Amino acid sequence: MSTLVKSGTVVTAHETKKADVRVEGERIAEVGENLQPRTGERVIDAAGMYVIPGGIDAHTHLDMPFGGTTSSDDFETGTRAAAFGGTTSIVDFAIQGRGTRMRDALDTWRKKAEGRAVTDYGLHMIVTDLGGAGLEDMDDMVREGVASFKLFMAYPNVLMVDDGTIFKALSQTAKNGALICMHAENGSVIDVIVARALAEGKTAPVYHALTRPVQAEAEAVHRAIAMAEMAGAPVYIVHLSSEDALNQVREARDRGVPAFAETCPQYLLLSVEDLERPGFEGAKYVFTPPLRPKEHQPKLWGGLKHDHLQVVSTDHCPFCFADQKILGKDDFTKIPNGGPGIENRMQLIYHHGVNSGKLTLNRFVEITSTAPARIFGMYPRKGEIAAGSDADLVIWDPEARHTISAKTHHMRVDYSMFEGFEVRGNARVVMSRGEVIVDAGQAAGKPGRGRYLKRTAHGGAWK
Ligand SMILES: [Zn+2]
Repeated sequence: MSTLVKSGTVVTAHETKKADVRVEGERIAEVGENLQPRTGERVIDAAGMYVIPGGIDAHTHLDMPFGGTTSSDDFETGTRAAAFGGTTSIVDFAIQGRGTRMRDALDTWRKKAEGRAVTDYGLHMIVTDLGGAGLEDMDDMVREGVASFKLFMAYPNVLMVDDGTIFKALSQTAKNGALICMHAENGSVIDVIVARALAEGKTAPVYHALTRPVQAEAEAVHRAIAMAEMAGAPVYIVHLSSEDALNQVREARDRGVPAFAETCPQYLLLSVEDLERPGFEGAKYVFTPPLRPKEHQPKLWGGLKHDHLQVVSTDHCPFCFADQKILGKDDFTKIPNGGPGIENRMQLIYHHGVNSGKLTLNRFVEITSTAPARIFGMYPRKGEIAAGSDADLVIWDPEARHTISAKTHHMRVDYSMFEGFEVRGNARVVMSRGEVIVDAGQAAGKPGRGRYLKRTAHGGAWK
């Protein structure tokens, strides 16, 4: 089966040009001007549209256990929702249980995804324990295509590991070429501040934000980068939320240190005021790191523009308001941490980035697709429009108007963090490996068609 995407404007991270794209089987066969349809070839008219590489969301939590409940999207509903918004690959997180082997976690997460995923998916491994065979396990995971590991400096007694463990993991990647992703917040200090707040009867959702100061994030980012320097390895900071943390990354990069960071739409567009909404509404915005005062938003946009930040991912981790967020009604520490966003990332960054003039079209493609493909060992198979790359293509309609709402979204969650946000620019046709999986607002991809992405070590962070 071959398909010709005709008369569109092809936009990649490095160029914008009028071109047609021919897809044969699962891959792009050629990109060129005035390609002529062949007999029997399907033609997709992309006149007036941009043709961009499928989005890559490098930070999602589908079907993830947390605090006695499980994130409400599984690999079927989550990846289908992603596809509606123009995202054709995700990288989710398997979690190593303390005292268990990483391979067990990989098997568990691959079973969650198999038969369900609509888009392709890779997995990072969350490391909670490097005792025993941990370092060998890391090498084993790299051979399985898990080319990145995440460690937590927050959540003591749950996910947090000590600095020695972080340093060992970083040192191991200096040998095996994987990439360490850090959740950078000083969890020990935060726990003391949280205990004080609860003792003072401060239980409302807003205290989730007020007990996690920006200094706790900036200090941890600084420490993570220092440890990476000592280990001789690059480091990637996940969900960076504040100017203070950004300054640490920028300062390191200015010195030539291979430090990388992502931010998320919620930090660019929402603020701590959302946690102060009346009643228990603020719980919808409880995730970690927390939302910050509005002044941080323009700094993060500037960071994206100037490449102090390289990636926008979502940290999609949905919990329903009615029966999950409510677990923390009388105690903000019991609110499941996480928010939904997998479907709206491309729309929000396009509208608030490109339409407003903060980002060029090429930079939009870079931070939502090409950079995550490079950094996480998927390039040029993903994140590129060129002969030989997977035919993950989005026909993007720059004039399509859409109002984001829980009433119409495809994520399995009963609220939207961006309820009522109006955007101009949306995915019209979405192809994954040559197959149309969303067509004019209709899902067309079968659950289980998505494949596990075996990623390679020594990705872009090492170059
Ligand atoms: Zn996360």
